[in-house]
Amino acid sequence: MSKLLQLVSALFIITLPSEIVAQKHDFKMKNIEELTDEEKYVIISKGTEKPFSGKYNDFYEKGNYYCKACDSKLYESSSKFKSNCGWPSFDEEVENAVKKIPDRSFGMNRIEIVCANCNGHLGHVFYGEYFTKKNTRHCVNSLSLKFVPDKKKYDE
Ligand SMILES: [Zn+2]
Repeated sequence: MSKLLQLVSALFIITLPSEIVAQKHDFKMKNIEELTDEEKYVIISKGTEKPFSGKYNDFYEKGNYYCKACDSKLYESSSKFKSNCGWPSFDEEVENAVKKIPDRSFGMNRIEIVCANCNGHLGHVFYGEYFTKKNTRHCVNSLSLKFVPDKKKYDE
């Protein structure tokens, strides 16, 4: 019996550090282990990929965009438009999929957008630029997104 207790406590000690690490990000980020350092820098540390560098910046295929950290559906390709700002731009999110948070970092007054499910950083939202009728630009890092084309199953 005492050997069993030793085993149980040893297991507890081994699993503890990873739980502490897990507390630094949202538990809903189920794909956390698959994220690259670059993706973690953007999604968890709220970094920004270099303009015009993202794989979805100049990309207009039909399909849907999902959160790379948790697979929540965030945007449809029908809301994507060309803004020439250097990052993927959308004028509308999937209902209730994106949370908006005031961001006063870097001396600017911006609105951060995060995945409503896992709080992963997406980018910022801007209003009043008249790019489209909806007058809204979700400026999103490609690294935060996973595109799935229409007519393909999600896990293909
Ligand atoms: Zn997410």
